Amino acid sequence: MKLWLIVIEGALAALAIFAGIWAFQIWQDSNSPKAGGCQETIVVGKSVNGVEITACRLIGSAIDSKNALLVIGTIHGDEPDGKRVIDKLLTQAVSKESEIWVIRDGNPDGAVLVTRRNANRVDINRNFPIKWEASDPTARTYSGPSPASEPETLALMQAVQKIQPTRIVVFHQPYAQIDCPPERPATISDRLSQITGYKSECIPGEKSGSPTNTYTGTFTIWVNSTFPDTTAVTFELGLTTLDAKIQTIAKAMRTLAAETAYLP
Ligand SMILES: [Zn+2]
Repeated sequence: MKLWLIVIEGALAALAIFAGIWAFQIWQDSNSPKAGGCQETIVVGKSVNGVEITACRLIGSAIDSKNALLVIGTIHGDEPDGKRVIDKLLTQAVSKESEIWVIRDGNPDGAVLVTRRNANRVDINRNFPIKWEASDPTARTYSGPSPASEPETLALMQAVQKIQPTRIVVFHQPYAQIDCPPERPATISDRLSQITGYKSECIPGEKSGSPTNTYTGTFTIWVNSTFPDTTAVTFELGLTTLDAKIQTIAKAMRTLAAETAYLP
């Protein structure tokens, strides 16, 4: 056999082997569970400036478990650290018994503008159609022209209605505590406190279920007053949070999602 023929045959054989390895890797990637990310993404609405607000079901999540946990990274644009918890959650697959949904950013315009409020200068967390009260348009907690007037409010409402979670954790800053919702027993707040080390605290001066709670139009009041089978809890991170603590909190979200015994 001539030398050039041997060289060409060798090259062709090598090419075939490489093509085989490449095809096998593609097949393997499409069949093995991913390290993290979204298994399903739904658009629940848009911000005032037209940015899509999406909810993502984490990879590995059970489908229709009737026991989903929804984690919301942020509602206030100048409180970004909850998004770090979401980013950690997105790096790892969920155990198949759990169902975790995340909304990384409920106020994308506020994040760009580095402001608590949305692009209409409305505090979304005073705009929900529950115990809504008119307020001063120049106040940082301006509740908007009418209940649920803001697209971001409607997006979060749509997310809860579509996903129908049994537990919701929404992150805020900077009080470094887990609020016990006045409409519910403190069970979930206490459990999260136990795992993360943050104190479980009822709103100062107001015990769980107290009629003296003066907050109006908030997301958690809306959820807890509208959906008897869903408990929404506010998790206040501190002003700054070490990465190790963010990791602990992300792990706590996985633990909570797995523990159906801690339902109210
Ligand atoms: Zn906040």
